[in-house]
Amino acid sequence: MNVKLLVKREVAVLEAYQAREIPCSVKLDANESPYGFHRALGAVSALQTNRYPDPEAKKLRTVLARHLGVKVENILQGNGSDEIIYHLITTFGGPVLYPVPTFSMYGIIGQILGEKTVAVPLDRNFDLHMGRMTAAIRKKRPQIVFLSTPNNPTGNCFSPDRVLKIVATSPGIVVIDEAYQPFAREKGFMPLLNDYQNLVIMRTLSKIGLAALRFGFLVADEKIVHEVNKVRLPFNVNALSQAVAVKVLRGGKALGTVVQKIAAERDLLMRAMMDIRSITTFPSEANFILFRVADPNGIHAELLRRGILIRNVSDAVDGCLRVTVGTSRENRKFLQALRSCVGKSS
Ligand SMILES: *Cc1c(COP(=O)(O)O)cnc(C)c1O
Repeated sequence: MNVKLLVKREVAVLEAYQAREIPCSVKLDANESPYGFHRALGAVSALQTNRYPDPEAKKLRTVLARHLGVKVENILQGNGSDEIIYHLITTFGGPVLYPVPTFSMYGIIGQILGEKTVAVPLDRNFDLHMGRMTAAIRKKRPQIVFLSTPNNPTGNCFSPDRVLKIVATSPGIVVIDEAYQPFAREKGFMPLLNDYQNLVIMRTLSKIGLAALRFGFLVADEKIVHEVNKVRLPFNVNALSQAVAVKVLRGGKALGTVVQKIAAERDLLMRAMMDIRSITTFPSEANFILFRVADPNGIHAELLRRGILIRNVSDAVDGCLRVTVGTSRENRKFLQALRSCVGKSS
């Protein structure tokens, strides 16, 4: 029996996503926070392992609603925002449209589900190219548009007026992925939810110190939440993650303090990188920095040889590497290694 012939065609042509673990001493490749909330793990000791988790994650959604100033009914929980993307595309179908370069999962999940995907190049400042976007939206009539702002891997926010124009003129749902919003100078689009019935905002705890939990969520009009909730499997967020997330979110200012610290470190790292003449550093509103070098593969390998792992994104953005903001000590080590690597290569 040839298993490959039994598999649906859209799956047969795919390669499994490789989230590889590469040994290193300074890990700055995955936009994780350098600070965890390990003490909150104590919250799991009160759990009963024989019972299913709360299928509606009520406590967690309640504390999130309070944090964000929205209603519990507007929040839908996911096993990471990756799963939310899955649920959104399952619910609304394609075409799925997004600017590129951007987060790869919009395209990958679109393909997995057999939907048509439409990738529209950003302009030279990594902002939305309105001519291309409006033409593509008019022609392809996307069921869903994904906009990551701040955008991964470029680090910038899109112009808010361009984002809003797309929300206002799209025939389908527009999902604003705010995975990195906590690190940005601007407030994000949450306050505008009441103005647009087709607007969906995605957030995650992954980039602010809780990647291990796999918890992401969407915030949208109740009618959208109602529909997407139909495709969510009953116990998608496990009890351990719910308990730890509740504990951290109730923990007062700790989360905010950590985010501020990372943003401050980012600005220091940025200034230091801008002083390195042989590289080009792009502005960032996120917890990572994109930069261009003459020999991305060589520099990436040379940094790794010194124990420093960053992300080679040169396939998506010509000549570019992406470094996550670490602790000040990690950032210093990275800078020191980078200076000597680019010195060598130039
Ligand atoms: C990391 C990332 C996510 C994934 O978040 P999870 O909640 O860990 O699944 C979503 N969107 C963007 C833009 C990201 O960079």
